[in-house]
Amino acid sequence: MTFAIHGLAVSRGIAIGRAVVVASSRMEVVHYFIRPEQVESEIARARNARNAVIDELRRLQDEMPKDAPAELDALLDVHLMLLQDAALGTAVKNWISERLYNAEWALTTQLEAISRQFDEMEDEYLRERKADLEQVTERILRHMKGMPSPVAAPAALAEASRAGSADQQELPLDAGVDEPLVLVAQDLSPVDMLQFKSRLFAGFITAVGGRTSHTAIVARSMDIPAVVGARAASQLIRQDDWVIIDGNAGVVIVDPSPIILAEYGFRQRQNDLERERLSRLRHTPALTLDGECIELLANIEQPGDGAAAVRAGAVGVGLFRTEFLFMGRGGNLPDEEEQYRAYREAVDGMQGMPVTIRTLDVGADKPLDKAQPKDYYLNPALGLRAIRWSLADPAMFRTQLRAILRAAAHGQIHLLFPMLAHQSEIDQTLAQLRLAQSELDARGAVYGAVKLGAMIEVPAAALMVRTFLRQFDFLSIGTNDLIQYTLAIDRADEAVAHLYDPLHPAVLRLVADVIAEGRAQGKSVCVCGETAGDVGMTRLLLGLGLRSFSMHPAQILAVKQEILRSDTRKLAPWAQQVVQSENPSALMAP
Ligand code: PEP
Ligand code: MG
Repeated sequence: MTFAIHGLAVSRGIAIGRAVVVASSRMEVVHYFIRPEQVESEIARARNARNAVIDELRRLQDEMPKDAPAELDALLDVHLMLLQDAALGTAVKNWISERLYNAEWALTTQLEAISRQFDEMEDEYLRERKADLEQVTERILRHMKGMPSPVAAPAALAEASRAGSADQQELPLDAGVDEPLVLVAQDLSPVDMLQFKSRLFAGFITAVGGRTSHTAIVARSMDIPAVVGARAASQLIRQDDWVIIDGNAGVVIVDPSPIILAEYGFRQRQNDLERERLSRLRHTPALTLDGECIELLANIEQPGDGAAAVRAGAVGVGLFRTEFLFMGRGGNLPDEEEQYRAYREAVDGMQGMPVTIRTLDVGADKPLDKAQPKDYYLNPALGLRAIRWSLADPAMFRTQLRAILRAAAHGQIHLLFPMLAHQSEIDQTLAQLRLAQSELDARGAVYGAVKLGAMIEVPAAALMVRTFLRQFDFLSIGTNDLIQYTLAIDRADEAVAHLYDPLHPAVLRLVADVIAEGRAQGKSVCVCGETAGDVGMTRLLLGLGLRSFSMHPAQILAVKQEILRSDTRKLAPWAQQVVQSENPSALMAP
C-alpha cells in the first residue's frame, strides 16, 4: 500500500530505488560493502562467530552448577535453538552474498527482519523471545568485534574512497543487485556518508537530522537526493520496499503505485534536462546585468573533490573542510606528511586557483571518532569544537598548520580559522601560526605565504567585525553556525528544525553588517554556509553587497543562473528594506 513520510528536504533531486534499511542495533555496528571476492571469507567470519557462541553456551550449560535454577538451563536451550535456526544462518549468508554487506551489517539486518515477525505474533511467550534473539545477536557481534577481521576495515575503505583507488572502483553492487538502492537509517554520521560513496546509493533517508546537519551537507556535496528528519522512516520502511525520495519537497513515498511511479519518473527526467541545460553555463563568466563580477567558489570535503569543483566552473575553493581527513580513524590522526600530501593534492587539483583551507572543525555533530558517544559533552555545540579543539591540543594544531604552510609552496592557499569569538583566541591562533613557521624554519623546510581569514560563525564575532577585519585579510561567514548560535537552534535537531531560519531579522542584520563593513574596508567577505548555495537567497545576498559565494559544486550553476539575471543596483535598496523589515520573508518574492 502506498504511503508518504514527510521530512526535511535537504538535497535536491528525485531518487527511485529499493530500500536498504540500516538497522539501529543497541551495539555500535559498522556498515560497509565488501568486495565480491570477499564473500566467502565474510560468510566464514559470520559462521565462525556464531559457532564460537554456540560452543560458549554449551560450555556454560555443561559447567552449570547442579543447584542452578532449571529456568536458566531452559533459557540457554532457547538461545542455542535460535542460534542454530536456519532463519538466522541462511538469511545472514544471503545478505552477505547478494548484497555484499559486511557480516555485522548482515546480522543486524536479519535481526531487524526477524524482530518484525516476532512483533506481529499473537502469543505473548513467543513475542517475548525477541529479547532472546537480540541477546544472542549481540553475543555474536561482540565475538566479531574481538576477532581479527580478514576483510578491509571501514577506515581502510574510507581511505580507498578518498584516494579514489581501484579498489573503490570495484565496489559496485551489481554483483548482486541491478536496481538502484536508497539508504534508510535512523541516523548516519558524516563518516558513514563518506563511506557509502556516491555511486552506491541513489538517495538517503534518515529519521533524525536538520537541514544543515553535517550529514545533510555531505549528501548535498555528493549531489544525491536526501530527506532527513523523516521520523519513523526506519520503522515504517521495510528492507527492499520500493521508495521514491523527493528531495525537493522533503517527501518519501513508500511502495508507490504504477501511476505515482510514472509521474516521478517523468519528474526525474525533467530534473536531468534542467541539469543538462544549466551545464551550458559552465564557462559563462558570473557577471550580473550591471557588470559586477561575482566570485563563485566551491566547498569541498576531500582533496580529490577539486576536479568536480573545476568541472562545475568554480574559480577556486572557498572552504575545504579538512576535518574529514581526521574523522573515523579510531583516533589515529594523520601526521604532517599525510596532511601535506592531501593539501597539496587539493592545491594541484585547482590548477593555480586559490584554495581556502579551514583548520580542523571537529566536535558537535562531527565527532572525531564514531565510537565517541553523542552526549560525550553536556552540550557539544557549545563545547570544545572547532578552533577551541585545536587550541586545546596545540601540537596537533601546529602539525596541521605546518602541513598547510608547506602545501602553500605549490599554490595559492588561504588559511581559514573556524569559530573564533575571543581576542584571546585570535592571539593564541596567530601565535601558534608563528610557532609553526619557526618550526619549519628550524628544519629548513620550504613553505609558502598564506592569506589569513576568520570565519564569522558566532554572533560575538559578527558584532566584533571591525576587530576581526583589523587582524585578518578576509572573512568568511559560516551561516550554518551563525544561525544556530544566533537563534539557539541546534542545527542537527529535527525537533527544532522549523525554527532554523536564515531569514530571521537578527541573522540578516548580522550578515548585512559583516558584508557592509568588509566592503567599507576593502576586504573580501565570502559566505560559505548553506545559504550561499540557496538560489532563493542569491538576490538578497547580492543586494547586500556580497561578491563572493562558496557552495557545493553541484549548486554553482543554478546560483550562476540567478546572478546572470540580477542587477545589483536595483537589488540594493530592496535588500535594505528586507533587512530592516520585521517580517523579511514577506518581502522575499521578487
Ligand atoms: C558554517 O557554519 O556555515 C560552515 C560553513 O561551517 P560548517 O558547516 O562546517 O560548520
Ligand atoms: Mg561552521
